[in-house]
Amino acid sequence: MRKKFVRVIFPGSFDPITNGHLDVIDRGIKLFDELIIAVGRSPVKNQLFTPEERVEMIKEIVRERRMKGVSVESFEGLTVEYAARKKADVILRGLRSLTDVQYEFQLAMTNRAVAGIETVFIMTSERYGFTSSTLIREVASLGGDLSNLIPENVQKRLKKQLKCKKIAR
Ligand code: ADP
Repeated sequence: MRKKFVRVIFPGSFDPITNGHLDVIDRGIKLFDELIIAVGRSPVKNQLFTPEERVEMIKEIVRERRMKGVSVESFEGLTVEYAARKKADVILRGLRSLTDVQYEFQLAMTNRAVAGIETVFIMTSERYGFTSSTLIREVASLGGDLSNLIPENVQKRLKKQLKCKKIAR
């Protein structure tokens, strides 16, 4: 059987990227030929980092860890339209727990119904099953140690960002 080159996009907010996301990316690149981390520019308020900052942080990690076949960019609008523009075959999403399943199931079915694109799910390591960007932002704002859950560059940026926010208040 001829092996097809498979390009996958991993869309998300990544505000900020966590070791849970990175675990899914590491597993994903073993299965696919090319993986694009796609940072959504959704107009939702309450985001800590700008899309540019999020992309920059992820690029630093990809460079530092020499993650072959992985690239990073931001996108606006519908994920399925972005996937079509990138000629991606698959959307990759991560699963932490059963609570993720219901929402992700709906999203995957909708994307398949409207654009015919398949979604592939990768379960994270048990270590990161409870990690979310929201929780990371909350714990960081209270000064907690997050060294096991986020990369070092993210930790540094979080500290700096939260300091700026405090001063601005
Ligand atoms: P979104 O706002 O699109 O859910 P996120 O950045 O929160 O963006 O998540 C992007 C993807 O990564 C989603 O599929 C989410 O379920 C998954 N994800 C988030 N945190 C983890 C984690 N700790 N382990 C595995 N997957 C995760």
